[in-house]
Amino acid sequence: MDADSPLFDAYLRDVHQRYAAIDDGKVADYIPELALAKPEWFGLCVVTKDGQCFEVGDSRQLFTIQSIAKAFVYGLALEDCGREYVNRRVSVEPTGEAFNAIVLDEVTNRPYNPMVNAGAIATTDLVQGKDAVERLKRMLDMFERYTGRSHDINVPVFLSEKTTGHRNRAIAYLMLNFGMVTPRIDETLDLYFQQCAILVNAHDLAMMAATLANGGVNPVTGVRAIDSQYVKDVISVMLTCGMYDYSGEWAYHIGIPAKSGVGGGITAVSPNKLGIGTFSPRLDSKGNSVRGSRVCQALSEDFSLHVFSVEQAKLDLDVYLRGDLGDRSSS
Ligand code: GLN
Repeated sequence: MDADSPLFDAYLRDVHQRYAAIDDGKVADYIPELALAKPEWFGLCVVTKDGQCFEVGDSRQLFTIQSIAKAFVYGLALEDCGREYVNRRVSVEPTGEAFNAIVLDEVTNRPYNPMVNAGAIATTDLVQGKDAVERLKRMLDMFERYTGRSHDINVPVFLSEKTTGHRNRAIAYLMLNFGMVTPRIDETLDLYFQQCAILVNAHDLAMMAATLANGGVNPVTGVRAIDSQYVKDVISVMLTCGMYDYSGEWAYHIGIPAKSGVGGGITAVSPNKLGIGTFSPRLDSKGNSVRGSRVCQALSEDFSLHVFSVEQAKLDLDVYLRGDLGDRSSS
């Protein structure tokens, strides 16, 4: 279903125009392929839990999903192995450290959470399948259930991550040393580098978030992407750990569970309401998209989308989505 509310559409266009003027931040360049992104790219998309879709700007521009995949692969690991087993392998504690820190819990040897590289490599290890091909297929099928379309991998990005990813390899081997991952670690690392290089756009990210907001069912296709019992697990770690070592501030100021990636994307879930997807490759010092963060903040403040907000919203979301402000303004 396409957008049928000109009011919300106009709101989103206004937000896009306002923040397109911001040119703070820096495109990721730790591998040359990411530095090819045009700094001015800026796409926004909002999908409601009943499948209305609003998009502005470069919302169909493809980029690599990077760390955003971690939230969804965590969901797949939960489905494959169950909550109890996954919790024995990966904790859910924020680190306050950089996403690529080489640090494990001193007592249990578990990575701190599924959103940092160590935790994501551990959850990737838990993705089942008889061989590398089947494991990758199961992962890509999962993303297809969320977005409603099939996904490719950016092969140069994958190969570049694989060639230069010594730090991730070090983390993986440290976990192997502690018996926290299985010995097929090189296959798992490939799967981890491949998941980072999956191509998505802002529309996909909004659809993925809307699917979580809708209890795990894609609101447009009606396909279930994840068992409903694990939806709150995924959204919880997004809220506590999804925005690198800015996660606490994000939860406090913006309060929409979200996950970002160094490709410039953010996916944000407003439970039972809507999903937000943003893409703008200029990143702040924590690695979060500058414009994407501002857009989420604007939506949170204007429509009172902070998950713990008890205040009346400045703008009434239902009215904006119905698009019939006339009723109210005349009353
Ligand atoms: N591919 C990146 C890495 O493993 C993921 C980075 C990210 O989005 N934070 O270092």
